Amino acid sequence: MGQSHIYDMIVIGGGPGGYTAALYAARAGLDVLVLEKLSAGGQMALTGEIDNYPGYENGIDGFTLGERMQRQAERFGARTEYAQVERADLVSSPKVLETSEGPYYGKTVVLATGAGHRELGVENEEALTGRGVAYCAACDGMRYKGRTVVVVGGGNSAVADALALSRIARKVILVHRRDTLRASKVYHEPLRKAGNIAFCWNKTVTELLHEQTVTGVRLKDVNTGEETVVACDGVFISVGRKPATELVQGQLELDRSGYIAADETTRTSLPGVYAVGDVRTKLVRQVVTAVADGAAAVHMAEEYLAGGV
Ligand code: NAP
Repeated sequence: MGQSHIYDMIVIGGGPGGYTAALYAARAGLDVLVLEKLSAGGQMALTGEIDNYPGYENGIDGFTLGERMQRQAERFGARTEYAQVERADLVSSPKVLETSEGPYYGKTVVLATGAGHRELGVENEEALTGRGVAYCAACDGMRYKGRTVVVVGGGNSAVADALALSRIARKVILVHRRDTLRASKVYHEPLRKAGNIAFCWNKTVTELLHEQTVTGVRLKDVNTGEETVVACDGVFISVGRKPATELVQGQLELDRSGYIAADETTRTSLPGVYAVGDVRTKLVRQVVTAVADGAAAVHMAEEYLAGGV
């Protein structure tokens, strides 16, 4: 298909929200293209075991689920181009997406760009990334086989990372700035059972100790100010997510936390532009809520294409 072709819908990002939008759009007879920079699944593809996506009673790994979602959408005619979107003009008609593979044009755009990791903001963090500092247990965990690692954070990601690492590393030390986890209760029992996970409550990481690679962390007690040093070979930082909104800065309304302002209709501040999954304002960021967004976006886009809003 020539690149001057105008698609009914272009989806940016091939995670669960993006491919569900593509599936619904293709089934509704819309001419839909997914632009994905790497491979299907988004952040979900980095998740080893997904046990809370209905229909998979024995769980499924995120990479496989992502591939299945892609194939399902493509069965109905959705197309995928592997391209990095570098600039987006969401105001013009049609909307223009400048990519590493040239421009693409769409009457509507679904933003499914997700969220990436948030940095801790401690000195030398960037310089030590790949030299003891890591953000993804699924990607980098094996490097720490039989060693000692610190995981920083108290949410679902930190706890899932700690559990995954406990099966690889000799010892896992979870450092959290409160005395209780934010993570769902479902994780508490497996954490207790793991046997090689220790907890440092009410502590923040103030310094990454290192030679060529990380050798430990300096911790500060948030109540007493007391400092301690914990020796480790790696630090997995899991302190939340940062929405991928670089493409839309200055064009779309964002909320106070930097997510694209959109309610469950997924409509953004620009007509014909929808935000689905982790990149939009929402209460619960899960695969099931991302896929729900994909369906809602197509419903709204069909109305828009038919002359409504
Ligand atoms: P999150 O839920 O926002 O948790 C971030 C954690 O990092 C919090 O415990 C927070 O502490 C801590 N934190 C933030 N900034 C910090 C700093 N500067 N220093 C130390 N600690 C800091 O983020 P997430 O765990 O990445 O999860 C993101 C979303 O994905 C959530 O909606 C989550 O439910 C979802 N998710 C779900 C699953 C699952 O269901 N299995 C798995 C992964 C992710 P406070 O508690 O003090 O704020």
